[in-house]
This record gives sequence, structure tokens and C-alpha cells, in this order.
Amino acid sequence: MIRGKTLSLPVRTFKSSTCIPLRYYHHSSHQLNTTNNNINNNQFIENNNNSNGFFSCYSSAKFTLPTHHTLKAKWIQVPKALSESNAVLKTEIKVPDPIPIDLVKQVHDHDFVDKFLDGTISPKDMKRIGFGEWNEAVRNRVIHTIGATLCATKDALNLNESRRSSNLAGGGHHSFYDRGSGYCIWNDIVIAGQYLINSGAIGEGRKYLVIDLDVHQGDGTSNLCRLLHSGKSFTFSMHCKHNFPIHKEKSDWDVELEDNMKDETYLRILSDCLDTLEQEHRGKIDFIFFQSGVDVLQGDRLGRLSLSLEGVLKRDQMVAEFAERMALHDPLFHTDTNRAITIPLVSMMGGGYITEKENTIDRVCSAHSNTVRTLRNYWTLKENSTRLELNDSNPKELPGRLKGWTREMDEQTQIY
Ligand SMILES: [Zn+2]
Repeated sequence: MIRGKTLSLPVRTFKSSTCIPLRYYHHSSHQLNTTNNNINNNQFIENNNNSNGFFSCYSSAKFTLPTHHTLKAKWIQVPKALSESNAVLKTEIKVPDPIPIDLVKQVHDHDFVDKFLDGTISPKDMKRIGFGEWNEAVRNRVIHTIGATLCATKDALNLNESRRSSNLAGGGHHSFYDRGSGYCIWNDIVIAGQYLINSGAIGEGRKYLVIDLDVHQGDGTSNLCRLLHSGKSFTFSMHCKHNFPIHKEKSDWDVELEDNMKDETYLRILSDCLDTLEQEHRGKIDFIFFQSGVDVLQGDRLGRLSLSLEGVLKRDQMVAEFAERMALHDPLFHTDTNRAITIPLVSMMGGGYITEKENTIDRVCSAHSNTVRTLRNYWTLKENSTRLELNDSNPKELPGRLKGWTREMDEQTQIY
């Protein structure tokens, strides 16, 4: 049963336009309140002696699928590209732990979970999910990619100085209580949200925020959050109106976009939305999940928008800046001088679909890598700028060897 929820913001539909100027953020008016003596009552922020370094990202590439899958190439190539381009340190790329099944069962139907674990899930259900036949490798991969979001969440809460972490897969936003769809089996976002609630990371009267910018609506996430985490979560989904899923769920805030929207209009709308979220939720958000699907890119096989690589990079920077601005208004997050000034944030890879005929692997992987690179290295607050140590002079291009990718390269790639 789904509990009712009053939506504070209406669904809005925006049409494409190329003549509206972008509005950029300026931070000169923000002043750090260094004299604020509020007691820091977040148990996770006080745990500074257990530092795990500055940043982390979790790769499940070693748990690869035995057969070709449309997402397999990027799952393998993005961690490798991040490391080779010095966007992150090699030591910051980690292998996730498997997800605790009892936590999964706090979010999903027990029968659904057990059938996937023991292989009795029907071929029809597996086909709807998009993973082909069930086998041990699929199961092993799923429990680790779901675990990756939980590992990243723990790092962002407790360990990373940056308060940011990434899952180099995941973002299972089409997964519902008792069924999966659209390449999503279990919903790693809501499962990690459950962990936040269980562990007391979401304070009284506060919420975790889901920013879902995949081109497809986060229908499963919205449904599950209403079902399980009403009053503890806020779901914001900005997606293409005429795209999968045909039947849309009600997020706390849905923003629907018309086909073929380009950078300028998209970024203006996102900027306005983030401003509204800031005004309505400042001081009330304890954690941010960023479903950072890059299927908004022009030419994506399953997308209908027309963003450039630069536009997606700007999108990611705007989300990173938003998390910083939200923390500036919240003494919980800027009185801890040992850590970055931002709401803890975890990104999941989400969608981004290669057109093999045109060989768009480098474009998709570049966009995903830019998301992680942005979260690792992009800071607008002066206090954090000295933390940058890596060479980040070429933010848009990956090593040229990725061009010319073929399906066979999946099997030849050294896996991190
Ligand atoms: Zn998608």
C-alpha cells in the first residue's frame, strides 16, 4: 500500500528553446559563518580520525558478465579511463562489498529477492529487466553493484574528506518493490536510503534528496520512496516526457522535458529547479543521491534529448555546486573544518547507451568520467581549492585509444 503524499511542487513541462540566456552562479555573496557555535549533532561527521582519504569510487568491473551486455563496455572502460587520465587516484578506485541481503529485504519483496538469489526468477521477468538469462555471474554482479552504492554512502558519511563518492555502475531507478525493469533489478538508491534511516543519518525533520537527471523518469525510486520513506526522502526527477517509462510515477517533483532539448534551455531549467530546491529545502537535507545518467546526450540510443558533452559536464558541476550551497546554509556541514563544505553526495552511473554502429563508446565514457571527475575535483568554495592535487587540465577528453572500441575489447581489457 502506498501512503499518500502532498506534492509541494507541480509537474511542469518545458519546451525546447535556444534563445534563453544561461544564468550562472555567483558565490561572492556567500559568507562562511565561522563563528557559529551550534553543536554538531550528526554522529557521522565527528568521525574524523577514521579518514579514508579524500574521495572514493567503487568499480564492480571485476564482477563482469560472461556475455555481451549493452552496458558492459562502459562498466569496464570508465574505471580504467578515470585512472589512466589521472582524474582520480588509483587508490581511490575500490572494489565494493556485497550488499547485505537483510537490508535488501527491508526495501524489496522477500519472494522477489529470494527468487533472484536462487535463480528461480522467471525467464520472462529476467527479460523484462534486460539482463538475459539468469546465471551466477549476473547474481554476483548485482549484489556487488548494489553494494557499491552502500559502500559509497558509508564513505560519504564517515570517511571521505570530500564527503563525496561514486558508484561506477548502479542507479537502479526502474526497480520497484516486487519487480525490476529497464536494466534495474534492485533499487540501490532506496536501499542505501534505508541504511541512512536505519543508522540515524537522517535527522529529525530532515530528508535525503534524490536528484535524478537520467533521461528516463526514476519511476521505481519515486514509488519506493513514497511507499517506504515518506517524510524522510524527497525525489526530484527531471526527464524526457515522451520516453520510457510510458506510465510515469509521481515523484515529489517531476520536471518533464520535450524532445531534442539542447544545452542552453536544459541548463537554465535545471538552474531554476536547483534554486527552488535550495529555497524550499535548505537546512533540511542530510544526504544527496545523484542518479547521473548520461543518456541525455545527443544521439544516445535510448534518449531523446540533445545535450552536448560540455552540457552534461556543466550539469554535473551545477549539482556539485548545489550541494555546496546547501551546506553553506546548514551549520551541520560547515563547522567541521576537516571536511569539505558540501552535503554528503553519492553519484550512481545510471543510463548512457552506446550506439555501436557509430561507435559512441568514447563519448558515453567521457560523459560518465566527467561526472566522477567533477565530484572529485570540482570545488567552488575557496576553502577546498587547495585540496586539488591531480592534473585536471583536459576535462573533456579521454585517452584516444578508446576510440575504435569493438565489442571484443570487452574481453581484452585489464579490469580494475
Ligand atoms: Zn535512463
